[in-house]
Amino acid sequence: MDAGVLVAVDLVNRMVVRPEPVEDMAVLREVLAVDPPSVAQLAPGHVPGFAALARELRAVFEDLSGGAEDAAADRLNQLLAAHPAHPHLAKEDGRWRLHHHPADAALVPMWTSICAEALARLLAGGHGDRAGSCADDRCGRAFVDTSRNGSRRFCTTTCQNRVKTAALRRRRAALGD
Ligand SMILES: [Zn+2]
Repeated sequence: MDAGVLVAVDLVNRMVVRPEPVEDMAVLREVLAVDPPSVAQLAPGHVPGFAALARELRAVFEDLSGGAEDAAADRLNQLLAAHPAHPHLAKEDGRWRLHHHPADAALVPMWTSICAEALARLLAGGHGDRAGSCADDRCGRAFVDTSRNGSRRFCTTTCQNRVKTAALRRRRAALGD
């Protein structure tokens, strides 16, 4: 999966849906581990910016989960307008490589741009319905469905099984078992 999609899902789940009893800096170091230069640049001052980005992305997943692609597209366009991509050539080991941003780009705007672009590509590719929030209300974790038929409603089979078991129990109780 695209690094921008992975980071978007992780930011939403680890900074908004399930704030862990772990320091935000520790969470961000793990979420950004896909890009070591970002981890090296990360400072406590970046935490509020990433938390705000996580809330924006959460709204996009909620929109997509409810089939509101127009609303998701509006949010993504706002993020992309505020934080445009900044492609940059850098010479590494004697050859030129094209990066999404210069290495010294400000961290939060750079990741806003990367995450928003990744979700925009998903939507533009006709796969907006693959992004969503877990159908178990008590969970609500964001996910992107990469399965062949793309009909996932739960973040994991654990949530799917829990909901199925509860529904079965309710049906049995209703039958007076
Ligand atoms: Zn779930």
